[in-house]
Amino acid sequence: MFEKVLIANRGEVALRIHRACREMGIRTVAVHSEADANAMHVRLADEAVCIGPARSSESYLNKSAIISAALITGADAIHPGFGFLSENADFAEMVEAHGITFIGPTVEQMRLMGDKITARKAAEEAGLPITPGSPALESVEHAIEWANKIGYPVIVKAKDGGGGKGMKTAFNDEEMAEAFTMAKAEAKASFPSDVVYMEKYLQHPRHIEMQILADKYGHVVHLGERDCSIQRNNQKVIEESPSPALNNQQRQEIGEIVRKAIEKIGYTNAGTLEFLYEDGKFYFMEMNTRLQVEHPVTEAITGIDIVREQIRIASGASLGYTQEDIQFHGHAIECRINAEDPETFVPCPGKINEWHAPGGLGVRVDSEIYSGYSIPPFYDSMIAKLIVHGKTRNAALMRLRRALEEFVIDGVNTTIPLQQAIISQAEFIDGQYDIHWLEHFMKSRKSENEE
Ligand code: ADP
Repeated sequence: MFEKVLIANRGEVALRIHRACREMGIRTVAVHSEADANAMHVRLADEAVCIGPARSSESYLNKSAIISAALITGADAIHPGFGFLSENADFAEMVEAHGITFIGPTVEQMRLMGDKITARKAAEEAGLPITPGSPALESVEHAIEWANKIGYPVIVKAKDGGGGKGMKTAFNDEEMAEAFTMAKAEAKASFPSDVVYMEKYLQHPRHIEMQILADKYGHVVHLGERDCSIQRNNQKVIEESPSPALNNQQRQEIGEIVRKAIEKIGYTNAGTLEFLYEDGKFYFMEMNTRLQVEHPVTEAITGIDIVREQIRIASGASLGYTQEDIQFHGHAIECRINAEDPETFVPCPGKINEWHAPGGLGVRVDSEIYSGYSIPPFYDSMIAKLIVHGKTRNAALMRLRRALEEFVIDGVNTTIPLQQAIISQAEFIDGQYDIHWLEHFMKSRKSENEE
């Protein structure tokens, strides 16, 4: 087992990884920007190294500074968390070249899955259902030709895309020209490559993803699904497990398909396969080769510490359990709490005057915040994740309502009022929502307010 792990991230996920390491008796190294010297994970880690100025490009994305910090402190592994360098295969390759273990899949697996076009191909060959789609698109004419082959509506995506960027829908030939040009321009600005392709655009799907764990000896388990359909601008807002849309048999069926596919691909460590789900059918979208923000809902219903498993697998340990050993208990829901205006979503960094997180049975809060902490303006605005667990979905919902009520965050605006409004809607309570539900809900709220 590793003796010392460097955590190449910030915020709540850095603390999350620190906690798993401490429980395993592993020492931790925090790396931080100049703006994060007072962060909780920096205070708690055994050692801390400042790796650069506030800007991410000069600190949390600064590969050589992070690797130097690992070498100086003698860390034998690096956990990348999510975001930042977590899906950067070049970084993983550099880490391994320095004799340090990258806690994640292999460099080749990251490259394969990081490219949406090769990932779709690998997924299809491994038996996963995929959305009808095109190869890389060369020109507007080529795009129009493919769109007519697939049938409108379609969605143009960047092959290296992520974070909901670089995606444009088209409902006809005229829209196609613009969608192609805009997606390409966005891809060029945000990603290493401006290559785009298209997929059939599903009009009212849910986003359902499957969590898997795989060791280096061919053992693969799935930990069930997460429903992440409550989204705004393709960003998840609330996640839950199990999905209100699936029954046990459907869960087992897709779980088995996924498990076999992962065996076939030979993927290792933790990963998530994202699907769209419409009219009883699954369509593979992409695989995330890292820890996900919403992993705690899966931890709640399975009792498995996913970060601990990532570290164990990377160190060469065998899973030590099979699919039959995985038991699902109750229902869990997560709210991502952002320091943002709940109506306009304008980020609201600043000083937290008072912080009181809810607690009690079935309540987990993952956050770096403490009273007196100042949220720096340079990073993602998510400041906390509230996860509740109950015997049934209804019990989890009641608990979520009570926990959101208890939360006190004074000094900055947060998205808590929006979360409270969402969970009191009949459609949410009934589990009847698709990926567009939140946008519709927000629009109707806005026009009500204007009247
Ligand atoms: P990213 O890697 O940027 O997160 P994804 O491919 O995972 O992009 O897609 C993000 C979101 O975009 C999905 O959760 C879904 O809401 C929407 N989306 C993506 N592909 C499709 C599609 N073929 N049809 C309808 N919606 C889609």
